[in-house]
Amino acid sequence: GQRLRARVLIGCDGKTSEVASRARIKRTGWRYGQTALVCAIAHEKPHDATAHQFFMPAGPLAILPLTEDRSSIVWTERQDEANRIQALDDANYLQELRPRFGDFLGDISLAGERFAYPLELSIAQKFVGDRVALVGDAAHAVHPIAGQGLNAGLKDIAALAEVVTDAHRRGEDIGRVDVLERYQQWRRFDTMTLAIATDAFNRLFSNDNSLLRAIRDIGLAATNSLPGLRRGFIREAAGLTGDLPRLAQGKPL
Ligand SMILES: Cc1cc2nc3c(=O)[nH]c(=O)nc-3n(C[C@H](O)[C@H](O)[C@H](O)COP(=O)(O)OP(=O)(O)OC[C@H]3O[C@@H](n4cnc5c(N)ncnc54)[C@H](O)[C@@H]3O)c2cc1C
Repeated sequence: GQRLRARVLIGCDGKTSEVASRARIKRTGWRYGQTALVCAIAHEKPHDATAHQFFMPAGPLAILPLTEDRSSIVWTERQDEANRIQALDDANYLQELRPRFGDFLGDISLAGERFAYPLELSIAQKFVGDRVALVGDAAHAVHPIAGQGLNAGLKDIAALAEVVTDAHRRGEDIGRVDVLERYQQWRRFDTMTLAIATDAFNRLFSNDNSLLRAIRDIGLAATNSLPGLRRGFIREAAGLTGDLPRLAQGKPL
């Protein structure tokens, strides 16, 4: 029952943001009909700090290195199939996983709890309102195929912190909508591009159409054989491109 007062409220409460709905900010998007099954896997052989992603018609299987001989999997399946697999006991779950995972890391076993996340695109129509700003998935939840959601949220925070700090130094009211709109203007294009790119990536990679398969094989081969292009993708994925906020460049505010 305690009432708190502040100049601005930052909504960082995820894709079903209550802050956004109370600020009457509507959302746009759609469900992908895919669910990501997530858990930690222990394996016999070392992963050599290398991530793998296998593209299958229902969606990708990402194998992401953790500490010691363990990796986290993000295993995307069509919704019904994912529900069926998630309902299996651990032994049968592993039985389903093994042929998809392969044996390049030796024998595998479960190393933690199993989670299931239905996937959707959910973009707030505005990132700011009257004394409100949204960051992270509260502003933009995208398909995890490119592993960029958290990175985008961190860039939001760096940009908002810079806008608010600079406004405060100039003596402006940090909660005024025209101040917060500077943050929206900074981040909107980047996050919309990310939403469109991840959506297109998912359509291109999560299907078995032979023409699309040929296009993506050519694209991957070109990326592999052109070091400049590959470096460009790595810099993009690492969040080192574009108009970077000071915090994202490792500089103080
Ligand atoms: C399967 C999957 C794999 C992913 N893989 C990657 C990846 O490899 N790399 C990457 O960069 N991103 C990845 N992402 C995306 C990433 O997980 C999200 O972008 C990120 O977690 C968003 O962080 P957030 O803090 O904005 O929202 P969330 O992580 O959703 O956190 C919001 C928090 O707010 C809390 N909350 C909500 N309402 C309230 C309330 N009323 N009161 C108090 N607390 C509240 C919630 O409990 C939650 O803890 C993945 C996403 C999924 C689903």
